[in-house]
Amino acid sequence: MGNKTPVIAGNWKMHTTLSEAVDLVTKIGQGTDKGWRVETIVCPPFISLAKLKELTAGTPIELGAQDVFYEEIGAYTGEISPGMLSGLCRYVIVGHSERRMYFCETDETVNRKLKASIKHGLRPIMCVGENLTENESSNAESVISRQIKEGLKGIESAELLIAYEPIWAIGTGKAATAAYANNIMGLIRNLLKGLFGSEAALNIPLLYGGSVNASNITELLSQPEVDGALVGGASLKADQFLSILKQA
Ligand code: PGA
Repeated sequence: MGNKTPVIAGNWKMHTTLSEAVDLVTKIGQGTDKGWRVETIVCPPFISLAKLKELTAGTPIELGAQDVFYEEIGAYTGEISPGMLSGLCRYVIVGHSERRMYFCETDETVNRKLKASIKHGLRPIMCVGENLTENESSNAESVISRQIKEGLKGIESAELLIAYEPIWAIGTGKAATAAYANNIMGLIRNLLKGLFGSEAALNIPLLYGGSVNASNITELLSQPEVDGALVGGASLKADQFLSILKQA
């Protein structure tokens, strides 16, 4: 990953009550210090963002939301708009495979969410990745190319991050090998060069996600195309997340 600042984001998914979130962020905060050189992001459930904003003020911990809707305001029961998030967090995860899988999100939905987030000054962490069948049938590259091209259609701002998360590696304990991740992420980098130009594309952080833990983070980050990680399960235990951060 060269000289770039590593980016480590914790995706807490549908875990933590408000008090558990307070406890977890407090413990993570206690493990960080002033000279902290890792871009450290935690993405708690929506209900904890406001409280965690207070608690993380003046610390190296940045906040992200796990999703956002694309409309600005209106009769959309249960949804959260980018304008509501923009005062609360800097980042937002968009197009996580669990959203695509369980909530029917398409490349078009992802595209609209990305545009709306960028318009409101949020930095999206756009997720892409192939499932097991696509992987086994050697279709990973075409699936990821489609997700990147369709998801980023009409977007000119390169103020975003991409997380490559092979679905077969999420929550399974079986991370992709560092070489495999690097290869796919090289493909993503090339697609981004075509869309945004070489210089802008080199500055877009590419994160790997899928069973990242304290034992595999060093090898993953040693790859030239891997600028950071999106961490699920291992971000829910302060000691494990801190161990990942310290090795980054
Ligand atoms: P995992 O999840 O680290 O638990 O595999 C990663 C993710 O889904 O972002």
